Amino acid sequence: MTEYNERFKTLATNVIHAGTPSPRINGAVVSPVFQSANYLMADEAAYDEVRYLRLSNSPSHLSLQARLAVIESAEQALVTASGMAAISNSILAFVGKGEHVLTQKTLYGGTQSLFDHDAPRFGISYDPIEVGAPETWAAALRPETGMVYVESITNPLMEVGDLRAIAAFARERDLISVIDNTFATPVNFRPLEVGFDIVVHSATKYLNGHSDIVAGAVMGSAEKVETIRQLMLHTGGSADPHACFLFERGLKTLAVRMERHNRNGSAMAEFLSAHPAVKKVNYPGLASDPGHRWARELFGGTSGMLSFYLGSDAAAERFLESVRIPVHAASLGGPETLVVRPAKSSHLGQTREDRERLGITDDLIRVSVGLEDLDELLEDFDRALSA
Ligand code: PLP
Repeated sequence: MTEYNERFKTLATNVIHAGTPSPRINGAVVSPVFQSANYLMADEAAYDEVRYLRLSNSPSHLSLQARLAVIESAEQALVTASGMAAISNSILAFVGKGEHVLTQKTLYGGTQSLFDHDAPRFGISYDPIEVGAPETWAAALRPETGMVYVESITNPLMEVGDLRAIAAFARERDLISVIDNTFATPVNFRPLEVGFDIVVHSATKYLNGHSDIVAGAVMGSAEKVETIRQLMLHTGGSADPHACFLFERGLKTLAVRMERHNRNGSAMAEFLSAHPAVKKVNYPGLASDPGHRWARELFGGTSGMLSFYLGSDAAAERFLESVRIPVHAASLGGPETLVVRPAKSSHLGQTREDRERLGITDDLIRVSVGLEDLDELLEDFDRALSA
């Protein structure tokens, strides 16, 4: 009987060794790709015991899920086909017709569209809350509120709220609390340790870290993750074994990559905030940032994600045309620095009016600061900003 119970003391060791099959399958040091849709029947008594890829129970899933649970301080994890599969299944598993969700005012565009366009068809409504203003949350509650949904660092404004207070607020009122921890990563922040119920990730980003797969993850108590998995048996968002293999390979370097992303991100934020061409920088690692006090209290680092305003559409256009090292592309969290205009990509689904009300204007540039040499990167940004 293969077990997946390995775990060690530190995250840097666990990203490499936690969940390793024991005994190792055919002695393999690296978990092989189990590219088989189905498995021999044994004495299965229930549907869940059948081994089949849609049930997320191949050896490729089981070792990765065990590792993911350990690094987010969870009892159980579920790997999914995308971040949106993790998010949609986590929401729909716990709220339904007639229920209401409190959501952070700015969220990743896909998640916001899910609440705006799809949730109403399932009879689910929402109201946005200001995560930095705890005194306003209770007023947004309704008798039918069942969930609070936030991001540890928001996309694309890098907002950080009073996350410990949000988890406590939800717990006191018996609401399910869900947090998207994609931008912070478990290296910098582990939401379950401050009282959140469910963590979701777009593993497409930092967890895999190589811009070569789309995947997601859900972590939480065994009971809650199983509830989500049961829904996903029907919605069909399981991950392919080859994606699991690449995900597990990328995950092994998460701790070293985040050290560098944190360092490069902080230095880039300081550089941009001192640059005369830049109007304002959003980065929770800056002492002047509204989320800094909570980031300083709760986070071990503030990652490589930041955004900044250049004052005009034309200046933003000129900057994107002038940088040489960064790639002008969507997504984030890979080794290469990426630059993008959220108003023209992740938040294109929202109306201009809604975007501008939130501060997602056409001159806002989002940067995923990569792993390149910092001096060379800053030199390139300086040249492009002066163009
Ligand atoms: N959550 C955040 C914070 C994101 O930035 C994204 C994608 O950009 C997602 C979720 C969705 O992830 P995926 O594209 O893997 O479905």
